[in-house]
Amino acid sequence: MPIQRKLVQAVDDAADRSCCLCRRRGDHLHYLNRDPDDQRFENLVLLCFVHHEEALRSPMAEDLVRVRAAWYEKVRARRAQPPPAQLPSVLRAILVHEVRKLRYELQHRSQDWPVVEGLIRRLQPHADEGDAALRKEVMDALDVAAAKTRAGMPPETARALFEVAAATAIRGSLVVPEPRKNRDADRSLLESAAYVGFVVAHDGAKYLHSLPVVDAGANILAMVLRYAHLNKLRRVEARARTYFEKARKQAADDAARWLQFKEADAVAPDAAIPDDVARQLRE
Ligand SMILES: [Zn+2]
Repeated sequence: MPIQRKLVQAVDDAADRSCCLCRRRGDHLHYLNRDPDDQRFENLVLLCFVHHEEALRSPMAEDLVRVRAAWYEKVRARRAQPPPAQLPSVLRAILVHEVRKLRYELQHRSQDWPVVEGLIRRLQPHADEGDAALRKEVMDALDVAAAKTRAGMPPETARALFEVAAATAIRGSLVVPEPRKNRDADRSLLESAAYVGFVVAHDGAKYLHSLPVVDAGANILAMVLRYAHLNKLRRVEARARTYFEKARKQAADDAARWLQFKEADAVAPDAAIPDDVARQLRE
C-alpha cells in the first residue's frame, strides 16, 4: 500500500527531516514492525540510508523507539524555546568569557583530537542557551576548530563540529518556513556557519581526501542552504552555494560529486544517493 503523503510529512516534521540516530538527512521511512501495511505514525521512524540498512539487518526496534522519542523531544524543545532576545549583560559577560576560554584552548590544543572534540561539545550548551551575541561567540570558536581540519581532523571530530555548528546556527524547522519576521542576527550567524562548513569540506577534500570529513562539512553547508532556501534568505542561500562551488573545485572526483549531490539535495530532497559514495560513507 503506498504511503500517504500527509503521514510522510508528519514524520519528516517531527524528526526535522533528520535521521533519528545520527542527524544526517533522513532518507528512509522504516517500519518498526516490518509491516508496510501498518501505516501508523508510531510505526514509522525516519533514518538515513546507513542506519536504515542497519535497521533492516539487525533487530533494533526497541532502541529505535527510545532514540526516536528522545530526538522528537529535542526537536520540539528547540522549536518551543526560541533563543532569548538578549541575556542580562552580567550573565552574558560571564558566558562570553567561558566561550572565549574554550576558544583559546581550541587554538592551543592543535592535534589532540579527543580533546578538541570534547571542547567542541562543551560549546553546545552555550549555543543552546545563548542569545544571538553569545551564539556568535560560539561560532567564532567553531571557526577556530574548523581551521584545524587540514591538520588531520578525524571524522568523529568533524561530526561534532557539524552537530554543534548546525545547532548553533539553525534553531527552527528544516521542513516548514519560520513564522518569525526578524532574522537579521540569524543571517550573519548562518553565513558564519556556512563558512565553517566550507572550511571543513574544502580542507577535508583538498588535504585529507577524507569523504566522511567532507560529508560533515557538506552537512553544515546543506543545512544552511536548506534553511535559507525554505525561508527565502536569498543572500545566505547564494553564499552557501558559492561555498559549495569553491569546495568542489578543490575536490577529487568522488568528493566533488558528493558535494554536488548535497547541494542539490538541500533544495530538492528527492535525489538518489550515488551508490559508490554511499559505500564509502558506510565505512
Ligand atoms: Zn543515521
